[in-house]
Amino acid sequence: MIIAIKNSTSKEQFENLIAWLETRNVSVHISKGEYQTVLGLIGDTRNIDVELLEGLDIVQKVTRITDPFKNVNRKFHPDDTIVSVGDALVGGGNFAIIAGPCSVESEEQIIAVAKSVKQSGATMLRGGAFKPRTSPYDFQGLRAEGIELLLEAKKETGLPIVTEIMDASHLHLFEEVDVIQVGARNMQNFELLKELGRTKKPILLKRGLANTLKELLMSAEYIIAGGNENIMLCERGIRTFETYTRNTLDLSAVPMLKELSHLPVVVDPSHASGISRLVKPMALAAAASGADGLMIEVHNDPVHALCDGAQSLTPEQFDDVARCVNKVLEAIK
Ligand code: PEP
Ligand code: MN
Repeated sequence: MIIAIKNSTSKEQFENLIAWLETRNVSVHISKGEYQTVLGLIGDTRNIDVELLEGLDIVQKVTRITDPFKNVNRKFHPDDTIVSVGDALVGGGNFAIIAGPCSVESEEQIIAVAKSVKQSGATMLRGGAFKPRTSPYDFQGLRAEGIELLLEAKKETGLPIVTEIMDASHLHLFEEVDVIQVGARNMQNFELLKELGRTKKPILLKRGLANTLKELLMSAEYIIAGGNENIMLCERGIRTFETYTRNTLDLSAVPMLKELSHLPVVVDPSHASGISRLVKPMALAAAASGADGLMIEVHNDPVHALCDGAQSLTPEQFDDVARCVNKVLEAIK
């Protein structure tokens, strides 16, 4: 970290700042030029608050040289992390297709969808049991019963299951769940992230509606700092000024995240576009961009879905997407 000091600074103010910085366990390298004094901080600067320093009268500018995320940073872990979920691997050249309905609605529905997506090559089954809905009057999910039904579908098909947690107090219900999803709305629920860091469960961490990649990586850092390295990042579209699509798929996030971090990156073209006919082109583009997996909403009767029918594929449409995704993966090998 580099701190440029204002010329008007008195000797006493300068010495006070150095003394304070040294209490933060960093060594301070002073470089006094003719027009400008610059401090170079050497050591672990994670605990130094940039905004606090910038607020000081005597500080002109603060520049961070190193990234604030350490454990998820590729610089300190050059090899890809491979997350293992049942028989499925994600990352390091292993591609995962997670498919299933937005919400678990009934035993017949989840088992029918599970069987069809498995036949088409899905490697994991998704389904929301606890649903984060904008309106409290909308279907909120089958909650604990939804998880039970997912486990039934797992028993029938062998597919590992992925489902969203909304509150750390529900964690006991997720004991047999294979992947715990943290949804966009909870990406910065730091207490939840800390709790998930204490588990060993694979976590699918979705990017928040209006969050930067740095913020997504800092949220992953919360989980990894607690000891859980099984994290998949998920780009699911961000909110922009565009209104024709539900969100805007930020595909450049894929190569950028993979450059910055060793964690696998999954793309969700369903929530990113909100429109079923856009799911295929976006899924193909995501595969071509180097993503490690896809998460796609599939419903056996999208028109009557209790949630997100407009973006859900029929099993036949999903079959076509999965085939074409495999062709893209072959082509870029
Ligand atoms: C979901 O995957 O069901 C979901 C609610 O997605 P997001 O958190 O990305 O909106
Ligand atoms: Mn959904």
